[in-house]
Amino acid sequence: MPDQGPLPLTFAAPRRGKPPRHFADLAPDERASAVSELGLSAFRAKQLSSHYYAGFSADPLTWTDLPAAHREQIRDALFPPLLTYVRDVSCDGGATVKTLWKLHDGTLVESVLMRYGLRHDGTPGSHGVRSTLCVSSQAGCGMACPFCATGQGGLKRNLSTAEIVEQVAAAARAVQRGELSGGPGRLSNVVFMGMGEPLANYSRVVAALHRLIDPAPSGLGLSQRSVTVSTVGLVPAIVKLADEGLNVTLAVSLHAPDDELRDTLVPVNTRWKVADVLAAADAYAARTGRRYSIEYAMIRDINDQPWRADLLGELLGHRLTHVNLIPLNPTPGSEWDASPKPVEREFVRRLEEHGVAVTVRDTRGREIDGACGQLAASG
Ligand code: SAH
Repeated sequence: MPDQGPLPLTFAAPRRGKPPRHFADLAPDERASAVSELGLSAFRAKQLSSHYYAGFSADPLTWTDLPAAHREQIRDALFPPLLTYVRDVSCDGGATVKTLWKLHDGTLVESVLMRYGLRHDGTPGSHGVRSTLCVSSQAGCGMACPFCATGQGGLKRNLSTAEIVEQVAAAARAVQRGELSGGPGRLSNVVFMGMGEPLANYSRVVAALHRLIDPAPSGLGLSQRSVTVSTVGLVPAIVKLADEGLNVTLAVSLHAPDDELRDTLVPVNTRWKVADVLAAADAYAARTGRRYSIEYAMIRDINDQPWRADLLGELLGHRLTHVNLIPLNPTPGSEWDASPKPVEREFVRRLEEHGVAVTVRDTRGREIDGACGQLAASG
């Protein structure tokens, strides 16, 4: 743990200059009027959607079905550059790529693109390949979890809807162009597990979810079950999310089955306890019929004791969940390590004994500080 003691929880993001409005901010019914404001016929909105969401194209100057005289105006008014590419770093033979982006005000954020299902020689395995983007919803994070580098850096600001969608659009383009090892493909999954607490930036994240799952050409057409929102457990926001009529996968970062330890590992637990968080997740599952994930970072001698495995098993045995154990990734300022493999195996065994489905996450990008909890976006 860092020496300076626990950071405060920050729910409200500092107010900063708003990023310019972008087409990806607009819901389908707002697009026609935005286009009309530019003096163009409303039907042009559909063309813009097709280029952006179905064609993964970012440059209106190349959209030759638009009147040439208006292309520049459309670009300036509706497609301002929101994310400026700074650099990529990759590992796993090019199957994991972390991208650093600079936002309009100089703020830095990262996203991580991962290809799964390749054989060691880089050819597709027999179960097919998936491409997953780990997206950021805030610059920094206010939730202050002591084992997470993003949490230790504090919250800089919320991202706009379009700043979130643009990370996904850029990834979809990169996958289509074959920039990940394994050749060209389709972006199949998006996880809100990058920088930030998505449910603390609620309305923009929900709008971004709609852009991702709306069928093309209105949105990117990702399947709802392939989109995961991961939260520290902001109970009122989980309850609200259950009422949005969305069917996306919910993941809850639990990390401890008991309030005493969770109060320190996930400081928001001082507001909403383990039982409250699980009740809210159950309500989400009941509403959507979807199993939710429990994320549990395995931290040596902190939360990996056999009795905690049993307690977790008792809590989850009758619930519609799946546990993802994440071997702790090292972060600056934290002394903690991942649990040894035999301890991890015993933890898995005990959970399974309670009838809980468990997987150990194939955690990616540790060498490039791109794994869970390591995103710090230092220039
Ligand atoms: N704020 C959201 C999403 C971001 S993090 C949330 O907390 O759910 C995605 C996952 O990585 C969370 O489960 C988080 O607790 C976990 N994580 C954070 N730091 C980690 C670390 N150092 N090692 C392993 N997992 C970590």
